[in-house]
Amino acid sequence: QTQACQDLDRAHHLHPFTDFKALGEQGSRVITHAQGVYVHDSEGHRILDGMAGLWCVNLGYGRRELVEAAAVQMTELPYYNTFFNTTHPPVARLAEKLCALAPPHINHVFFTGSGSEANDTVLRMVRRYWALKGKPEKQWIIGRENGYHGSTVAGMSLGGMAPMHDQGGPCVPGITHVRQPYWFGEGQDQSPEAFGRACAAALEEKILELGEDKVAAFIAEPVQGAGGAIMPPASYWPAVKAVLAKYDILLIADEVICGFGRLGAWFGSQHFGLAPDLMPIAKGLSSGYLPIGGVLVGDRVADTLIEEGGEFCHGFTYSGHPTCAAVALKNLELLEAEGIVERVRDDLGPYLAERWAELGDHPLVGEARSLGLMGALELIDPATEERFDKALSAGNLCRDICFATGLVMRSVGDTMIIAPPLVITRDEIDELVCLARQALNETARRLAD
Ligand code: PLP
Repeated sequence: QTQACQDLDRAHHLHPFTDFKALGEQGSRVITHAQGVYVHDSEGHRILDGMAGLWCVNLGYGRRELVEAAAVQMTELPYYNTFFNTTHPPVARLAEKLCALAPPHINHVFFTGSGSEANDTVLRMVRRYWALKGKPEKQWIIGRENGYHGSTVAGMSLGGMAPMHDQGGPCVPGITHVRQPYWFGEGQDQSPEAFGRACAAALEEKILELGEDKVAAFIAEPVQGAGGAIMPPASYWPAVKAVLAKYDILLIADEVICGFGRLGAWFGSQHFGLAPDLMPIAKGLSSGYLPIGGVLVGDRVADTLIEEGGEFCHGFTYSGHPTCAAVALKNLELLEAEGIVERVRDDLGPYLAERWAELGDHPLVGEARSLGLMGALELIDPATEERFDKALSAGNLCRDICFATGLVMRSVGDTMIIAPPLVITRDEIDELVCLARQALNETARRLAD
């Protein structure tokens, strides 16, 4: 089974974010089934999924309730559009539920099929909003270096991943980027607090450079996920909020990763006390069981679009897909009924923080940080206490060792990341930390060879 599947895959399947040739030579690992926080491969190995799929399987694998919600909805109404002045119960109920969970000034949702589509949607909404307000000159959107907002042309343009820009250009015009609040990587010459304020000051400088009445919105993840689980210093968000308020700039908080409990709050924005005008969502919305995303739209933008906008010429075939909506609704109901978000906040998040911090004593680790159920390790060369030579690909080596020994941990350069399902137990956190330590030991041994 393994070989046959690998051969078909090699012959016909182009994987996302993958060196096709290198993968073709190596062959893909075949994942066949999953339960709880574990995925299983075709060779009988069990792997602790430290990345919740791709930051999305918040409720863990094997939840029959989600399967049943899909089956019931598919039997009743598998698909219908929401373009023809039509709606259906799952989408209306999901919209209501999301608005109840979101900050109070958010009372509307626009549905999409993914997080990237959600970010395409915010780009168009923001520009439409300022045009309707008679300020079409407010065109610029500022994102952050190393931010990730998806792989569509708008998503990659809003994001600040240089390799994506290099390959995918030209980017959407009118988007620029400012520095990220990455203290370990870029700010160690100052205290974290001073660095957080310096990043906000860099945002203000950029606004003044572009023209103080020319900036429409600032887009950022509450905690940068794909860029390396970058938790901002405590001074960062309050200072950024003040800058945005000063120049009347909309805040787009991309909640695709941080939403639905990852940081121990329903939304990362609530953790940081933000009141964003727009919040793109996806991933944990359905725990990844079916693809669905959306944009939570605050009253300021929604009221203008509704009262003054006429037809908003934008939407997707799968905007408000009934089956995806039914699964998402059931997923939110289960997260709520089982008190999972509170558990991450009060129990699992603090427990992970305590256990994860222990890895900070490993010679290969320059920093171990976590927030809620998201964590990162910064790998350093013990000989120099600096980063390893890039050519050694220490992060990828550590990732591959983890994967071979039963743990999914992602590498972004030499930053190792975890974001396990939110249903993980304390015992499973112990196992995760133990596997990570073993992998660090083995990585150190091989790098020393
Ligand atoms: N925004 C953020 C913060 C993400 O992390 C991602 C995906 O990782 C996206 C948007 C894009 O979402 P999707 O892959 O569903 O298009």
